[in-house]
Amino acid sequence: MKLETKLVQSGNRRDPQTGAVVLPIYHSTTYSHPALGTSTGFDYSRLDNPTRRALEETVASLEGGATGLAFASGMAAIACICQLFKPGDHIISSDDLYGGTYRLFEQVVKPYGVDFTFVDTREQSAIAEAIRPETKAIFIETPSNPTMKICDIQACVALAKKHGILVIVDNTFLTPYFQRPLELGADLVIHSGTKYLGGHNDVLSGILVAKDEELGKSLQFYQNSQGAVLGPQDSWLMLRGLKTLALRMEAHETNTRRVAEWLQDHPIIKKVYYPGLKDHPGRAIQEKQSTGYGGMISFDVENAELVPHILKELKVITFAESLGGVESLMTYPAVQTHADIPKEIRDAIGVTDTLLRFSVGIEHIEDILSDLDQAFNKAKGSVKR
Ligand SMILES: *Cc1c(COP(=O)(O)O)cnc(C)c1O
Repeated sequence: MKLETKLVQSGNRRDPQTGAVVLPIYHSTTYSHPALGTSTGFDYSRLDNPTRRALEETVASLEGGATGLAFASGMAAIACICQLFKPGDHIISSDDLYGGTYRLFEQVVKPYGVDFTFVDTREQSAIAEAIRPETKAIFIETPSNPTMKICDIQACVALAKKHGILVIVDNTFLTPYFQRPLELGADLVIHSGTKYLGGHNDVLSGILVAKDEELGKSLQFYQNSQGAVLGPQDSWLMLRGLKTLALRMEAHETNTRRVAEWLQDHPIIKKVYYPGLKDHPGRAIQEKQSTGYGGMISFDVENAELVPHILKELKVITFAESLGGVESLMTYPAVQTHADIPKEIRDAIGVTDTLLRFSVGIEHIEDILSDLDQAFNKAKGSVKR
């Protein structure tokens, strides 16, 4: 079945008793046992819930994995993965990781004795050099957040396989509609389902998909033991959002390509980061491993003084954290999403005081461009005065 069909049909027609086309929300936390030693397959909702299971099976199928798990947030999904590692283990990760993931690794997991090395994952040689005998995993984001660096997933997998290392990909930015890392050999995929998968800025969630059933089982054990599961109402909202993922991703990308071209020609813009641009250094790899470029774009304005004015003047676009919803959101990574990364590191990886990140929504492109134009012009006027 094609992805678009899987998306539309997600969770449908699972209730033979009523024939309900759309999956019911099973709020029940507990399930009656037909007899001693038997079960309907559901016992207690932390372990398994019919609405959550429908979502978990859907995402597993979309990503091409054996097991899908749904969590209360993206961070809960990543924290669950961290349970696979023990004191003395070592993880290699991207140096411009999502700020919350960096904070979890550095401030929460590291004190338990797991070591991390952050490298520029565009460079396979940098990853290779960081490998130690105790290295257990490579955790990457591609495109990275917010500077859209592209990591070659297949090259990473080839390197990791030689050393018996897991490859974990945060696929939040592209979703399985544009990129399926498990099909490229990765072992685990995680998502902040809060972003494109949910798609409407109304549900916080995390998704984890394991290619291999055995690895999936051990993660399921940690999910149940720790209990940061996604509730049934939120699981249903996720299924509802997924039905239109294909349409949304196409619309996000069409708009973003227009925004990228428009920004490139604008006099106050110094640099545009979008893997769909012809001169993006990772474009060839991006085209090898994905079928699209996504809806996330970042850009540097000519000076940091403009930033507060631009953010204040935006009218259609909302100045807010997060991304991936139908509405356009603009973020200032240095003080919002990436504030927990020290300034020297931020500057070195390009998360500068002039960088804005734009999650392009699916509003009419003319309204998006004219909003940017008026905000830039007013900001320019205010700074001159
Ligand atoms: C938002 C985000 C996360 C964290 O997910 P939450 O749902 O906010 O916990 C992780 N990775 C990326 C790339 C994100 O954008």
